[in-house]
Amino acid sequence: MTFEALGLNTSLIKALTDAGYTAPTPVQQQAIPAAIAGKDLLVSSQTGSGKTAAFMLPSLHRLSEIDPAAAGKTPNQEMQAARARGERPRFKAAQPKMLVLTPTRELALQVTTNTDKYSVNLRRIKAVSILGGMPYPKQMQLLAKNPEILVATPGRLIDHMESGKIDFSQLEILVLDEADRMLDMGFIDDIEKIVDATPSTRQTMLFSATLDGVVGNMARRITKDPQIIQIVSAANKHENITQRVHFVDDLSHKNRLLDHLLRDDSLDQAVVFTATKRDADTIADRLNIAGFSAAALHGDMHQGARNRTLDSLRRGQVKILIATDVAARGIDVPTITHVFNYDLPKFPEDYVHRIGRTGRAGRNGLAISLVNHAEGMNVKRIERFTKQLIPVNVIEGYEPKKTASASRSAPRPGGWKPGDNRGGAKPSGQRTFSKPGAPRKEGSTTGGGYKGSNPRSTDGARRSYGDR
Ligand code: AMP
Repeated sequence: MTFEALGLNTSLIKALTDAGYTAPTPVQQQAIPAAIAGKDLLVSSQTGSGKTAAFMLPSLHRLSEIDPAAAGKTPNQEMQAARARGERPRFKAAQPKMLVLTPTRELALQVTTNTDKYSVNLRRIKAVSILGGMPYPKQMQLLAKNPEILVATPGRLIDHMESGKIDFSQLEILVLDEADRMLDMGFIDDIEKIVDATPSTRQTMLFSATLDGVVGNMARRITKDPQIIQIVSAANKHENITQRVHFVDDLSHKNRLLDHLLRDDSLDQAVVFTATKRDADTIADRLNIAGFSAAALHGDMHQGARNRTLDSLRRGQVKILIATDVAARGIDVPTITHVFNYDLPKFPEDYVHRIGRTGRAGRNGLAISLVNHAEGMNVKRIERFTKQLIPVNVIEGYEPKKTASASRSAPRPGGWKPGDNRGGAKPSGQRTFSKPGAPRKEGSTTGGGYKGSNPRSTDGARRSYGDR
C-alpha cells in the first residue's frame, strides 16, 4: 500500500517522501480514503499509530482543493481595504476552515509541528496553535493572519470565541484528538460549546483510545453516519516495550535504584514520571547534582519554559526529563530509550500513555516502575487494564528487604506465558513472582547516588496528584 494509492495529491506525497514516510500505517490506510471522501470518522487508535497524519493528510488534501477566490478576503485584507477606503478598520474575527482540539498543549504543538511538515508544499495553508499559557497579544497576531487550521486546547479557545476573535461559521473540518483524555480532564462542556458554534455541515473526526462509554455517547451525538475504524496495532499493545517492576522498601532505596538504572549503558534518553510537580523539580535538581543532565516538566511551568525544555530534550541536550502526567502524551522523541515510573500513575490508562514515550518510530524501549510494597494492587490494576503481566526484577545489591512474592500474589492463569513477550518480558526474563525466593539477578552494582531521603515526599498512596 502506498500514499499515492490513498488518493493524496502530489504536494502532500512529496512532503511525505521528504519526511521519510515510505508507507501508510494501518490507521492511515483506513482513515485517509474515507476522510478524503468527506466521511465522518470515529477512530480508536493510540498515539504512536500515526493518527495525526491519518486526520491531517486528508484534511490538507481537502483544504488545498478549496478555491482561494471562493474563500473570500482574509481579516487582514479586509482591514487593509478598509484603511485604503479611509475607514477605521474594525477587527475581523478569524474564520478557520479546520479545528483540531487536543487535551494538552504539548499534543497541540506536536500536531502543529506535524502539520507544518505535511503542508510544506501547500504555501497557502497555515496552522497555528491556540493554547493556554501563551501570551494573548501573540495569539491575536496569529489569529489576525486568518490561518486555515487552528490546533487548540479547549479552555483558551473558548476565551477567544467568547471575545469574538474566532468565528467558526466557515469551518469545514472538526477533529477531536484523544477525545477520551479531554473528557477525563473535564472538558465536556467546553467541547459541546465549541461543537455547537460550528456548522452542522462540517466533517467530524474523533480519535480516542476507546470508543466506549461517555466518549461513545458524545461521538454519536456529534457525528453523522460515521465510519468506525478500530486499530489494534503492535504499538497499541506496546509489544516493542519491555516492562518491569522493581520493588523498593522506601524512598532512599528508590532513589538509589533510580540512580543505578539511569547509569545503564543502553540508556540514551529517559523520562521519569512523578506524581507531583514538586517531586519533579526536586528529583531534577538532585539528578543534576549527581552529574546527570536532567530537567523538570510540569504544569506549573510557563509555556515558554515547557517548550524550551522539550526542545532541549529533542536536541539531546537534556538526557533525563522528570515529568508529571502533563508529559504522558504528546512527547515524540525517538531517542527516549527508557521510561521510569518513579510513582505509579493514578489511572492505568496513564500507564499506557507514559510507557508509550519510549519505543517510538519502530524502536524498542524499556519501561520500569519503581513500586512500593504497598502498591502491589496498583500494579495489578495496570496488568488487568493492559491484559499483560509485568515481570518483577531484582538487581544484585539493590534487593528489597521484602521478597517480591510477599508484595504481590501469584499471577492469574491465562495471562502472560513463558516465552510470550506481550508483557514485555525479555526473552531471558524470569517471572520472579511466580518463583518466590528466586529473583532474577542482573547487572553489576554501581555506587548509589542519593544520600538520605526526601523529607517532603512519601511514597505511593500518600502523595497528592495535582497535575493532571
Ligand atoms: P502519532 O501516532 O501521530 O503520534 O505518530 C507517531 C510517530 O510516527 C510520529 O513521529 C510520526 O511522525 C510518525 N509517523 C506517522 N505516520 C508515519 C508513516 N506512515 N511512516 C513513518 N512514520 C510515521
